[in-house]
Amino acid sequence: MLDGNQHAADTVHAGGEWHPALSGDTREVVDPADGRPFAVVAEGDERDADRAVGAARRAFDQGDWPRIPARERAALLHRVADLLIRDRERLGLLESRDAGKTLEEGRVDIDCVADAFRYFADLVASEAPGRVVDAGSADIHSVVVHEPLGVCALITPWNYPLLQASWKIAPALAAGNTFVVKPSEITPLSTVAFIELLVEAGLPAGVANLVTGPGHSAGARLAEHPDVDLVSFTGGLVSGTKVAQAAAPTVKKVALELGGKNPNVVFADACATDEGFDTAVDQALNAAFIHSGQVCSAGSRLIVEESVRDRFVAELARRAGLIRLGRGTEDGVECGPLVSEQQRAKVEAYVDSALAEGAVLRGGGKRPAPAPERPESGYFYEPTVLDRCHRGMRIVREEVFGPVLTVETFRTEDEAVELANDTEYGLAGAVWTADAGRARRVAGRLRHGTVWINDFHPYLPQAEWGGFGKSGVGRELGPAGLAEYRETKHVYQNLAPKPVRWFAG
Ligand code: NAD
Repeated sequence: MLDGNQHAADTVHAGGEWHPALSGDTREVVDPADGRPFAVVAEGDERDADRAVGAARRAFDQGDWPRIPARERAALLHRVADLLIRDRERLGLLESRDAGKTLEEGRVDIDCVADAFRYFADLVASEAPGRVVDAGSADIHSVVVHEPLGVCALITPWNYPLLQASWKIAPALAAGNTFVVKPSEITPLSTVAFIELLVEAGLPAGVANLVTGPGHSAGARLAEHPDVDLVSFTGGLVSGTKVAQAAAPTVKKVALELGGKNPNVVFADACATDEGFDTAVDQALNAAFIHSGQVCSAGSRLIVEESVRDRFVAELARRAGLIRLGRGTEDGVECGPLVSEQQRAKVEAYVDSALAEGAVLRGGGKRPAPAPERPESGYFYEPTVLDRCHRGMRIVREEVFGPVLTVETFRTEDEAVELANDTEYGLAGAVWTADAGRARRVAGRLRHGTVWINDFHPYLPQAEWGGFGKSGVGRELGPAGLAEYRETKHVYQNLAPKPVRWFAG
C-alpha cells in the first residue's frame, strides 16, 4: 500500500487473501500536514463488502476459531500484542502521517492497542465456563453460557484509527467471532498493516477480513448485510443513525459509539492555591486541544465558576497561544493539523457562527502563519478560546471536532450541573473541586458515561467506555465490552425425565 508497486492497492482482505477492489478503483491517502497523497488503497464498495462477509461467514460456520478453547484464543491475542509492540514505531508513524497526530501520540496509541488485546485475552482466559443456576431440583442441571455471536461488522472513524478498531477487534476475537472491519476511508493504513500482524500471529484465514472504502457504499452494505450478526460503529451521530436504520430490517445487534459535547466543570475552590490553579488550567488545555480537539471525549465546553473566570480564561488563552503546531513527525511539535480540508472548513464555519452570535475571541480563531514545520498546504488551525458563550449558541450545542474551546460560567453547584447536563450527548465530563463531598455529589448527578474528578481524559481497558443519550448505545472495554460480542444461552438439562401428563389422552 505504501511502496507504489502494482499490488500497492490490494488492501481488501477476504478469506486470507489480499485483493484489489472488484471495481479496480483506488483512493489516494493524503498527509494532512501538507495535503499531499502518500499512499494508495483499494476503493472497495458493496461487492467487496459482500466478498468479505462471505469469507467471515464461512470461517464462523465451518472454521475452528469459534470452537477452540478460550485459552488458545487468548494466547494468540497476546502474540498480537507482542507484535504490536515490536512494530510500535512503524505503526505509530502510520497513525501520525495518516491522522495528523504527533508521532508520540501515535506511539502511545499503539501501546493502548496492545493493552486492549492483553486485557481481553486475560479476561476470557480467566473466566468460568458458565453460571450454574439453582433450578430448585436435584434432577435439573441448569447453566447459562456465553457463545460467540457470529460475523461482526466493525466500522471505525479517523481520529484514533487503530485504537478504535482494537476496542472492537480484541473483544470480537476473544469471544470467538469472525469479523469484517471497515476503517475510515481517510485513515485506513494502520488497520491494513494490523491485519498483516493478525496473519503473522497465526489467525486462521477468514477470521479477520477488511474492506477499505467509503461509508455510503462499503460501510452501508456491511450494516444492512443479512449475514452479519452485529454491527459495531464508531463515528458521528448522522452516520450512526444511518447505520442503525440500515441494520434494523435484519434485527442484528447494533452498538454505537458516537460523538460528544463534553463539559469540563471548574469550581473556584479547585483554583484556591497556585498549584491547584495551574493544574486545572493545564488539564483544561489538554482536555480541549490534544489531537487538535479531534477527540470524541474532548473537553470542548469549559464551565467555570464566575468568580475565577477572568483569571482562568486569561491564563488558558495565553498557554493555548504557545502550543506548537506542525507536522506530527517534527521534533517539538505539540499539535498536528486537522485531518482534512473539509474538517478545517467545518471548524472555521463554527467559529464564524459563534462570533456572529456574540462569543468573544480570546485567542486563535484563524489559520497559523506557515513555517518550515507547517507548510501552507497543511490543514492547520490555531487553538481557539471563545469566551462569553451560552447554551443558546450552535457552537455550544453541536460537536465541532476541532481545536475550539467555549467558555460558560455558573454561580451555584445546581447551575453547574444543569449546564453540564444540558446536551443531547452524554459521553464524558469532568468536575474540578477541592471539596470531596461536592466532587461525589456532582459526579453522581452528571449524565455522562465517563466522569472524571480532578482529571481529564484517562481511560482504563478494564472500565467500560460509552455514552448516555445520543453519544451511543452499548459499551466498549471492560466486561460489558466483551458481552457485546456474545450471545447468552440457557442450557436446561433434565437428569430424570418423566411424562408431564399435561394432556390426559
Ligand atoms: P463518520 O461518521 O463520518 O465516519 C465513521 C465511519 O463510518 C467511517 O468508517 C465511515 O466511512 C463510515 N460511514 C459513514 N457513513 C456510513 C454509513 N451510512 N453506513 C456505514 N458506515 C458509514 O465519523 P468520523 O468523521 O470518521 O469520526 C468522527 C466522529 O466519530 C465524531 O463524531 C466523534 O465524536 C466520533 N467518535 C466517537 C468515539 C466514541 O468512543 N464515542 C470515538 C472516536 C470518534
